[in-house]
Amino acid sequence: MANVLIIGAGGVGQVVAHKCAQVPEVFEKITLASRTKSKCDKIAEMLPRKIDTAQVDADHVGEMVALIEKVKPDMVINVALPYQDLHIMDACLETGVHYLDTANYEPPEEAKFEYKWQWAYHEKFEKAGLMALLGSGFDPGVTSVFTAYAKKHHFDRIKTLDILDCNAGDHGLPFATNFNPEINIREITANGRYWENGEWVTTKPMEEKRVFDFPEGIGEKDIYLLYHEELESLSKHLPEIERARFWMTFSPNYLKHLEVLQNVGMTSIEPIEFQGQEIAPIQFLKALLPDPASLGPLTKGKTCIGNIIRGSKDGQEKIYYVYNICDHQECYKEVQSQAISYTTGVPAMIGAKMMLEGKWMKPGVWNMEQMDPDPFMADLNQYGLPWQETWLDKPFR
Ligand code: NDP
Repeated sequence: MANVLIIGAGGVGQVVAHKCAQVPEVFEKITLASRTKSKCDKIAEMLPRKIDTAQVDADHVGEMVALIEKVKPDMVINVALPYQDLHIMDACLETGVHYLDTANYEPPEEAKFEYKWQWAYHEKFEKAGLMALLGSGFDPGVTSVFTAYAKKHHFDRIKTLDILDCNAGDHGLPFATNFNPEINIREITANGRYWENGEWVTTKPMEEKRVFDFPEGIGEKDIYLLYHEELESLSKHLPEIERARFWMTFSPNYLKHLEVLQNVGMTSIEPIEFQGQEIAPIQFLKALLPDPASLGPLTKGKTCIGNIIRGSKDGQEKIYYVYNICDHQECYKEVQSQAISYTTGVPAMIGAKMMLEGKWMKPGVWNMEQMDPDPFMADLNQYGLPWQETWLDKPFR
């Protein structure tokens, strides 16, 4: 039985704390720490059993080291922001504990969505006999495991991969982002990019649009090509893939607001001087927008995230679709969060469980598709993210 330290008490941290608390046979002792301790205490009050809480600024390696030395966890689950990843990894190396996160490191001053900084830690973790598991959320995370599962069980060779992320939920507000607005808007306003025949093809933001008929009554939705970080690791670890793309649904209303904000410069990460103070417009915008955690009680409808994979098995061409459907209100009933935080927090708990149970434990820095998908896929069904699979007769073009 293990002792875990969770960093970050936002939307995702709340779900991770709930889900770890539900599995006491693995997570015997839990500490939730964040920059604002009161947020941790609020979450702790909701839980079915007692956890410890603490204050930490994870950007200060020294503070993280002191906290780890006090708590003595077996591993750190990092669900703070991508800016903290390297600092927390440094603290884990210094104190000899394992590491997991859900999003790749981002330097605050440039939106890159690249793994290179974290992959550069591979040897350090390997030498220290420690494991760092990267991207154990839904996308990246479950979508990476879906790909590994398809390869292991259904294909000799994968030719094309399309990851389709649909949020058909409605919170009734004019404009809000489902998770951290800064990260979300940085992702969406960047150029689109996909992998084809060994190189990256760049598109303008929102340039490529399709309509897809989602299952289980969700129906037809507009879906747009974006760059997403799992494309980098999947194209590296499964070089046979000829084309890998990522798509996300956006409503016309969401895009209208975003376009105006972008045109007036409110989505920029470049700091400007205002009344003697430096501010990044996107950080100011974040302060104005609803806190994603507040959307929980308001959001109705479902998410559907999955992979369409075309390839061959025994010389036969096949098109496989594997996906999860998650209901915002069901999530709220269980953990007082909407489905976006839920679909990220559950895989973070399962990834940690895989490591602590020894099913995925190996020294070094690893992405999810490099692990055996089977025990993780079984746990998705058991811990709230059941998946379905089907065969399509038409490819996704
Ligand atoms: P939130 O903004 O809701 O929460 C972030 C939390 O991190 C806050 O509690 C914040 O503390 C804390 N934090 C920020 N900076 C520090 C710091 N220096 N030290 C300690 N704590 C800090 O974000 P989400 O919960 O929505 O997202 C969490 C992570 O999950 C992000 O990295 C995001 O990119 C990732 N994610 C991954 C997905 C996936 O599928 N793979 C999908 C969605 C999100 P405070 O409130 O006190 O400022």
